[in-house]
Amino acid sequence: LPFDQRDGYIWMNGRIVAWADAKLHVLSHGLHYASCVFEGERAYEGRIFKSREHSERFRASAQVLDFELPYSVAELDAAKQLVVDKNNFQNCYVRPVAWRGSEMMAVAAQNSTINVAIAAWDWPSMFDMETKMKGIRLDIADYRRPDPQTAPCHAKAAGLYMICTISKHRAERRGYADAMMLDWQGRVAECTGANLFFTQKGALHTPIADCFLNGITRQTVIELAKRRGLEVVERRIMPDELSGFDECFVCGTGAEVTPVSEIGPYRFTPGVISRALIEDYSLEVRPRQQAA
Ligand code: PMP
Repeated sequence: LPFDQRDGYIWMNGRIVAWADAKLHVLSHGLHYASCVFEGERAYEGRIFKSREHSERFRASAQVLDFELPYSVAELDAAKQLVVDKNNFQNCYVRPVAWRGSEMMAVAAQNSTINVAIAAWDWPSMFDMETKMKGIRLDIADYRRPDPQTAPCHAKAAGLYMICTISKHRAERRGYADAMMLDWQGRVAECTGANLFFTQKGALHTPIADCFLNGITRQTVIELAKRRGLEVVERRIMPDELSGFDECFVCGTGAEVTPVSEIGPYRFTPGVISRALIEDYSLEVRPRQQAA
């Protein structure tokens, strides 16, 4: 079913509306000029994992794009939970989005209203279980993550996803699940919607998140790895170093922890570290587990 024709409820500008009524006008600044930020979250057993961290990032992303969300972190957390509850979801994906409205239709739009909506839908996993166990295959994207002086690279801003969609489409056309993107200096950065980790001699290696999203899942995985006593090395990684790694996995709210078997010409074997972190992450996100 197309996303505009589903049943259920969406929170829009402070109230719950029927799914089909959550509309915006075609002359919305957010659509034309990408004055739009969003979040991607997951609820497990009815509770949103790291809701506060996502609400904080949502507000911070808006601030980077020069607008203020008219809701506090606590109000956003409550609204998101309301959407999950109202739609009777236990496990679901949650999508807050904020954009400048229709009052002004030019680059400058200082006085436009800031709209906020929150939807939730069923999205069991970005990759099926079989793919997850075998590992996904990654293309290498042509586009690079822009440097911090070229784009607001730490915001989860809709405009930054243009290069992600193009790269993911090209990867899929070539038979890959996703694409690894390099950064503006040619270093390994991340995928089109997930962060990257590698293993070498029992340690985790991951690129420094200095020009791409420092994912909440990435931060969780680092914490889980340290809890297991694994060494975590955040460093600059060049693509030709990929031949020296044993395992590779991607992680993100959508992808959770998913092993990678190939990146372009490089091969990896999903192994004990990836499996351990898949397990740790799946326990960490369960609210009952957290309460225990
Ligand atoms: N990088 C990009 C470009 C993303 O879109 C995402 C998903 N939000 C991530 C990384 C992972 O972030 P998180 O773990 O916070 O979902």
